[in-house]
Amino acid sequence: MTRRLESRSPADPADEIGSFPVADAAAVDAAIARARAAQPAWRDAGLAARSAVLLRFRDLARARADELARLIAREVGKALWDARAESGLLAPKIDVTLGDGLRLVEEQRPAPGLRTTWRPRGVLAVYGPFNFPAHLPTGHIAPALATGNAIVFKPSELAPAVGAWLAALWREAGLPEGVLEIVQGGPDTGRALAAHPGLDGILFTGSYATGHALEQATLEQPWKLLALELGGSNAIVVCDDADLELAVAESALSIAATTGQRCSCARRLFVSHRLFDLFAERLARVLSGVRVGPPLEPGVFMGPLVSVAAHARLTAQRALAREAGGERIPLSDPGLPPPYTGAGLVRFPTTRQQHAYQRDEIFGPEAALYPVDDLDHAIAAVNDSDYGLAASVFSRERSRYEHCVDRVRTGVLNWNRGTIGASARLPFGGSGRSGNDRPAAVTATLYCVVPQAHLESEAGFDPAALPPGMPAP
Ligand code: NAD
Repeated sequence: MTRRLESRSPADPADEIGSFPVADAAAVDAAIARARAAQPAWRDAGLAARSAVLLRFRDLARARADELARLIAREVGKALWDARAESGLLAPKIDVTLGDGLRLVEEQRPAPGLRTTWRPRGVLAVYGPFNFPAHLPTGHIAPALATGNAIVFKPSELAPAVGAWLAALWREAGLPEGVLEIVQGGPDTGRALAAHPGLDGILFTGSYATGHALEQATLEQPWKLLALELGGSNAIVVCDDADLELAVAESALSIAATTGQRCSCARRLFVSHRLFDLFAERLARVLSGVRVGPPLEPGVFMGPLVSVAAHARLTAQRALAREAGGERIPLSDPGLPPPYTGAGLVRFPTTRQQHAYQRDEIFGPEAALYPVDDLDHAIAAVNDSDYGLAASVFSRERSRYEHCVDRVRTGVLNWNRGTIGASARLPFGGSGRSGNDRPAAVTATLYCVVPQAHLESEAGFDPAALPPGMPAP
């Protein structure tokens, strides 16, 4: 009997969102076969025909943005303002893909007789995370389709309804049968998909642990492209000349947006000695006032965590802060049952970060404050992490931020903007445990294609061009 995935709202277990058949190995195999059969015609349809489908998807996504936002809010518990921000990203993603993204893989002619073209890889698997169940899969699906690939899409098992909604929208936009297959399920389905020899690549967004498992699962298939967009332990540096209100407001947003469940959320704040106490006090006040509640309720900033299991993980990680040498700053508790939670803030006397509390990714509204002497001290502390996704510098002086460029080892480095801000027109990815140097967003088109080099000549046979000792035909 086929197993089923039941989707229920984390905000209300009585809210049954949908029931989906789980794809076993045979179903994964069949989905890949259908995608493989459909891919050549999609490639041969040409860019104009493919773009027309992408543009229809864009228009539908824009028209249905509110419907999608409500579904995201129900299924993963994202507050409505936040879910609306996510659903609003789909249409611009198509424009960026067809503009800036495709420009990166345009044909090049560096000299007469030399040409580079870019061909699609073939069939790519797209794995979605739960925290941006529509935007991040689209960030891989759109460039993969635009460049002529077929896709097998595995949504997060925590957001199957959003995944199904997206797949249905692509069909409505006129995507031919088989070009985007969807397989629902959890890690077992993910494993069956990753190991399948019929795949040419894996475009993955999720945790470091799963990224690591995917590397291991494909060790014997080195031809299979892996683009890994993984976790973070992101840092904010507050210099002694920072605009305090701005730094506090952006830090609070970076800690607590999406109930702290963004790869780009800030976890480690390095604050100048001079501002430390004042900054801590203001930040604690803001985080204490954050409105937590049902995601669809007007005025709510933070919905629940995605699941009771995620709440239990966060609670266990929070309990380690004292062992790591930290002192918890008291914040008000929203007084709601799990998986709701309030924000958490911990202060440390030095920047030593040796404990698991400080080194592992925490996926919830939790952050640690560390005092720093100067900018170079802060840079060393930011880099003392196994992750390397995002960092922000708050200073009125551009030169201080410029001093961090190249020295801070992250894929995203912002100035007077929080860590959660990102642009589809820029690369988005990180180093260390944050990814494998294949940044997504605008640069996603690059890993959806393979370069093909051409030496070209229209000239006929020239005996003078033969090397010595080679007779003419
Ligand atoms: P996850 O790693 O638990 O799951 C991601 C996907 O992998 C899901 O579809 C899941 O079913 C599948 N999966 C799980 N185990 C697998 C296995 N062994 N083999 C194959 N597939 C498997 O991640 P999540 O909890 O959904 O998402 C949160 C994580 O994603 C956080 O670590 C966050 O930082 C990260 N993230 C990164 C980015 C980025 O762009 N770098 C963006 C969003 C989220």
